[in-house]
Amino acid sequence: MNKYKRKNFLIILLSPSGGGKSAILRKLLRIRDDIGYSISYTTREPRESEINGIDYNFISNEEFQNLKDSEDLLESAVVHGCWYGTSKSFIENELKKGKHIIMDIDVQGAKQIIKKKINAVTIFIIPPSKEILIERLKDRGTDTEEEINTRLNSAKKEMEELHNFQYLVINDDLNQAIQEVNEIINTEEKKIHRFVDIKGNFYGG
Ligand code: ADP
Ligand code: 5GP
Repeated sequence: MNKYKRKNFLIILLSPSGGGKSAILRKLLRIRDDIGYSISYTTREPRESEINGIDYNFISNEEFQNLKDSEDLLESAVVHGCWYGTSKSFIENELKKGKHIIMDIDVQGAKQIIKKKINAVTIFIIPPSKEILIERLKDRGTDTEEEINTRLNSAKKEMEELHNFQYLVINDDLNQAIQEVNEIINTEEKKIHRFVDIKGNFYGG
């Protein structure tokens, strides 16, 4: 048994829409049982394949406002015209279970978390090129041409914010990208400051 206790951390996956966050996350959560997923609240309508309480907590504008008032939101932002936010209490509960928490949130939300000096690992994912991003968004088939254009405009702005974040993963081959994200998490786990009382444990704690 490993007696060296470690503090778990938040992992924020960022990318332009269509960058591959969901695809990477889905697989990562299957291969690691030490990571929980932060289920966001949103006022957006669910897509056909999405399940309430699993992909998102889908709520009304009024309910979202109540959440904001209750101060349970760690961060919140309007993305493509709808509200999105992360529940503080949900994350705290998951961390207590001894898991890292992975979050799929936008650049505005990630910046709010960094500003609060919360220790989070930030990983920015991009496809190899703009052309490939467009292709993937079209192939995904979840957005109209107008929505795709909105997402491409947002992508431009998001790329301007790259310098705020720590790691870059180029999502060319999906399995390779998943492996790289996995390796980043493994490396972060080894940072000295994440351990609790190393000396005490070494000398017989
Ligand atoms: P995001 O969650 O960042 O918006 P998705 O995970 O939905 O992006 O990815 C957008 C589309 O691209 C999806 O249809 C996904 O299956 C596909 N995709 C993601 N990564 C790759 C990859 N490396 N190669 C080919 N297709 C990919
Ligand atoms: P989608 O509606 O396509 O699932 O997500 C749209 C965008 O909202 C993505 O960039 C996604 O990362 C972001 N998003 C999802 N949940 C949250 C959240 O809780 N907070 C913030 N700030 N953005 C989120």
